[in-house]
Amino acid sequence: MPDTDSPSHGPNAASERGSRGRPDGVAPERGERGGQPGGPPDPSAIDTSRRPFVLVWEVTQACDLACDHCRADARPERHPDELTTEEGKRLLDEARSFGDGQLVVLSGGDPLARSDLLELVEYGTDRGLRMTLTPSGTNSLTPDVVADLADAGIERLALSIDGASAEAHDDFRGESGSFAQTVAAARAAQEAGVPLQINTTVCAATVDELESIRDLVADLGAVLWSVFFLVPVGRGRVLDPVSPERAEETMAWLSEVSESAPFGVKTTEAPHYRRVAIQRKRDASDAPGDDGIGRRLGITAGDGFAFVSHTGDIYPSGFLPQSAGNVRSDSLVERYRESDLFRSLRDPDALRGKCGACEFRHICGGSRSRAFAHTGDPLESDPLCAYVPDGYEGAMPSGRAGAD
Ligand code: SF4
Repeated sequence: MPDTDSPSHGPNAASERGSRGRPDGVAPERGERGGQPGGPPDPSAIDTSRRPFVLVWEVTQACDLACDHCRADARPERHPDELTTEEGKRLLDEARSFGDGQLVVLSGGDPLARSDLLELVEYGTDRGLRMTLTPSGTNSLTPDVVADLADAGIERLALSIDGASAEAHDDFRGESGSFAQTVAAARAAQEAGVPLQINTTVCAATVDELESIRDLVADLGAVLWSVFFLVPVGRGRVLDPVSPERAEETMAWLSEVSESAPFGVKTTEAPHYRRVAIQRKRDASDAPGDDGIGRRLGITAGDGFAFVSHTGDIYPSGFLPQSAGNVRSDSLVERYRESDLFRSLRDPDALRGKCGACEFRHICGGSRSRAFAHTGDPLESDPLCAYVPDGYEGAMPSGRAGAD
């Protein structure tokens, strides 16, 4: 899932794999190169009140794994009311209306549980969408499947690694053999020339693994490391988050990593990473008065990001399951642009509590998903943030508890 920027890594596989491959590779996220002639749109040039930078379609909730942190509460069987192939194609047709080169992430569950997956990837690719995929690390993800996906036009493969060893990763994902299968799939992506993204969940059970995972991400030749700070939804409710203080340390460390790593680093559901990075820069700067607060640097739920569930519900994010409509009866484009829910999420001045009083709200704004998970109000404060604005004397966000 999606959220950040890194240079493309090595030869662009998709372009080498035949007519469906796009020469520009997957769109850069924050921090990646973008906006080259003929390339994907520059993320900073996208008007996120008009279109999402990332559109996620949860094509199914079916999955053979039973990961502790699963947002989707995935189960072995496909839901009988999943969007059909034709409904999915209509959704992809509408995604084109957002504008050229719309990035679409097919997620799950395990998207490979759908027998029409290649057909959907080809359909989207043929219509100019930039199709990417987040498959589960199972033995379905063979080198042949990766090669077929590359031929169908997939522009990035995102795989989850939550431990740097088989023991740690498999324990977290509840399936012996998952680590080996994921690493094999990552190597297959490299072989097929498909840019690779690694997603890692940060919670009390995984935070001590991060340094070793960073080395593995580099070894696998990934173009992007997407670090997701746990939001307690789905099965993730049973996991312990890190404390706000540990989250702060981790974000500062990630900011350092991003300066020298051969891959991009982005955070998911942790926009205060931007605030931490700016504060680091400000601390290191000799320029008096440089507050480091400039253009908006990222995307958040409903603001540059949209999610369509397996049954067609339109959410600001998969971690913020508040529906603004359903693609079976509503226009995704209209709901994204005009619904009260999405519009309020794009208004930093609508935020409440500590986030509402914060001078960083225009470049951060906190995780709206985490606020919703803890309070039922997506405009409340993000309890993972340790920052307290100068002079703020209002209520502190609930749900600050977390393990170190
Ligand atoms: S208080 Fe809210 S807006 Fe300010 S840095 Fe923390 S999460 Fe971001």
